Amino acid sequence: MTLIVAIDGPSGSGKSTVARGVARELGLDVLDTGAMYRAVTLAVLKSGVDPADAAECARIANDADLQVGAHVMLGGEDVTEAIRGPEVTSTVSQVSAHPEVRHELVDRQRAWIDERGGGVVEGRDIGTMVFPDATIKVFVTASDEERARRRQRDEVAAERAVDVDSVKEDLARRDRADSSREASPLRAADDAVIMDTTDRDVDDTVQDIVERVRAVSD
Ligand code: C5P
Repeated sequence: MTLIVAIDGPSGSGKSTVARGVARELGLDVLDTGAMYRAVTLAVLKSGVDPADAAECARIANDADLQVGAHVMLGGEDVTEAIRGPEVTSTVSQVSAHPEVRHELVDRQRAWIDERGGGVVEGRDIGTMVFPDATIKVFVTASDEERARRRQRDEVAAERAVDVDSVKEDLARRDRADSSREASPLRAADDAVIMDTTDRDVDDTVQDIVERVRAVSD
C-alpha cells in the first residue's frame, strides 16, 4: 500500500511544521507544494511575464527545472530564501490560480510520490484534488490572530521585519484568493480530520497524526 499523508490548510496554520514532524516520525520524505508554486512565481517575476497571462505562466511552469527538498533549487540556483520574499508572497495566489499551472505542478507532485512509493505532502488541495485516496487527510487550522503572529515571527526570524497588521492583511487577501478561485480552491476534504493548532503543541498534533496513520496502516 502506498502511504500518503495529505496535510492541507491556510498559511500560518502550522501545517509545514506539522508535516515535517510527521515525516520525521514515520521516516518519510515531505513535499512542500507551496514552495513549488512560489518557485514558479519567482520564475514568472524574473522573466518579466505578466502573472495574469495563464499561457505564459504555464509555459514557465512546464519549463521549470525545479527541485523541492530541504533546499529549493530553480535552474540550479538555490532560491530557498528568495521564494519567501514579499514580491513572491504577494503574487503567488495569482499565478497558482491558473488551472494550466496547477495541472503541471500536480503532475509533478504525483510523480514525486510514485518515485518514493509514499510520503507526506502538504499544501491547499492535496486531500481534495492531488491525492483524493490518501491514507489520511488532515486539515490544519488556527485562529486568524495566531496565524498572523506566527507569520510575523517567521518574517522577523528571516530579517524581513513587517508589522503584524500588514501580515494580517496579506493572510486575509491570500485566504480569500485561495478559497474563492475556481481551480482547486482551499477547502477541507469531506473525509479530512480537522486539527486546530491555536492552543495546541506541535508535538501533540504530530503524535495525534502519527497514531492515526499507524491505526489505519498496520
Ligand atoms: O504554503 P504557502 O503559503 O507557501 O503557499 C503559497 C501559495 O501557493 C498559497 O497562498 C497558494 O496560493 C499556493 N498553493 C496552492 N496549492 C498548493 C500549495 C500552495 O495553490 N497545494
